[in-house]
Amino acid sequence: MSDSPNERSGLELVPSVDRLGFVRTLRELMATEDTVGLLVVDIQDFKRINHTFGLTIADQLLVKTFATLSSITLKGASVFRLGGNEFAIVLPSLLDPSLLVLAANKVCKVFEQPLAIGEHFMQISVRIGYASNAIYCGDVEELLRHAEIFLEDAKSQGVPYVEYDDANELQAYDWQLESELNQAIINNELILFFQPKISFREEGKIHLEALARWMHPKRGMISPLLFIPLAEQTGGIKLLTKWAIHSALRSLTEWPGFLPLQDKGHTTCYSVAVNLSVQALEGEGFVELVAAALNIWGVAPENLTLEVTEGVFVNDTSRAVRCLHELKALGVCISIDDFGTGYSCLSYFKNIPAGELKIDKSFVEHLTENGDDQYLAQLIIDLGHRFNMTVVAEGIEDLATFTLLQKMGCDYAQGFYRAKPMPQDVLLAWLEKYKEGRV
Ligand code: C2E
Ligand code: MG
Ligand code: MG
Repeated sequence: MSDSPNERSGLELVPSVDRLGFVRTLRELMATEDTVGLLVVDIQDFKRINHTFGLTIADQLLVKTFATLSSITLKGASVFRLGGNEFAIVLPSLLDPSLLVLAANKVCKVFEQPLAIGEHFMQISVRIGYASNAIYCGDVEELLRHAEIFLEDAKSQGVPYVEYDDANELQAYDWQLESELNQAIINNELILFFQPKISFREEGKIHLEALARWMHPKRGMISPLLFIPLAEQTGGIKLLTKWAIHSALRSLTEWPGFLPLQDKGHTTCYSVAVNLSVQALEGEGFVELVAAALNIWGVAPENLTLEVTEGVFVNDTSRAVRCLHELKALGVCISIDDFGTGYSCLSYFKNIPAGELKIDKSFVEHLTENGDDQYLAQLIIDLGHRFNMTVVAEGIEDLATFTLLQKMGCDYAQGFYRAKPMPQDVLLAWLEKYKEGRV
């Protein structure tokens, strides 16, 4: 297929390949906007169309495809031809990167109708890859590369586009970040953010959850939702967990609120929580690792909480569950994270080593308007209390939800309404303000 503006057809001009214009537009947008979307659209079987119908028709098909893509009402979109049969749609100001799937769907829909080309009606199908700088904090080439990886995935799976989810995001990253992760820990690129869990009842009583962030030198901050599964997949989780436990305990010893203070009104941080993947628990010598870390940092076991998801408890004879019992015996608090979303086989409550139960945020986010969620949240609170557990609600984003959960008897509040996850220096400033009743 010729790339030059094309007069062969003698009809409308074939859109020029404009990679420069594409790169310029995308670069300018990415410099000023956090959520720019990119769709790369490929016409299937274009070679065959070329051979069967000839160059003139194939050229007209390119003209029509370009016009069709330009006519789709995607706000502020610009369309470019990137190569033979490949087009790009650049979308500024996406409210959410997940809207890219809707845009991809819209593109597919418009090609469900045959295109009228001369006397032919041609049914084409497209394959689409997409990416957003909200997920990949790289440059234009990086974004394009990710969209093209998704495009290849769609082609190999024989689907118009692959659905957006974290697992897929990860596939795109896999081979690239895999080798970098262990080095990133050594290079101090991983840091812990801390989010308070605040007592509903006792003013000033706070626990903290440590949440990992990867400050990648080129891509900016990478979410744990991306790199934790990667670490789990590649075996890096052991090193990561060790790093998280040591870093959290070290931080705990650096906070003024660490040791319960005598003077009234002081905030007391009783514990720091570290999230654990089941792979870490199953690893050789995990209990010894925790005991050694507590010893090195001089922290009492009750100041450390380990959060696990309920899936760990499915097999109560597993190594992981045995390990949790040993950790409990050591004096560490075990917390069940994201409760209600996993394989809730409640029989594990009979012999549960956990002292804390965290209601998953999916029950909390619509709590005030959804009676079913209220009912379920109340059940979880009662269940937790029945088994002597402290109940924490995560994902509280507004006052109404906060007040409701307080009335429902929940013990601790966690969520953006009171405090977002913060780096250590911001947390310290926040604790100061909190102590003075200013947050
Ligand atoms: P999680 O343990 O359930 O942590 C809670 C997540 O909810 C955090 O996401 C937090 O930023 C977010 N969150 C807190 N309050 C709100 C709110 O009001 N609204 C909304 N929409 N979200 C809220 P984050 O930091 O992205 O962490 C995601 C997950 O990654 C964590 O879920 C945890 O499972 C995992 N993770 C984080 N750090 C580590 C780690 O060091 N080791 C392991 N194994 N997993 C980790
Ligand atoms: Mg957690
Ligand atoms: Mg959670």
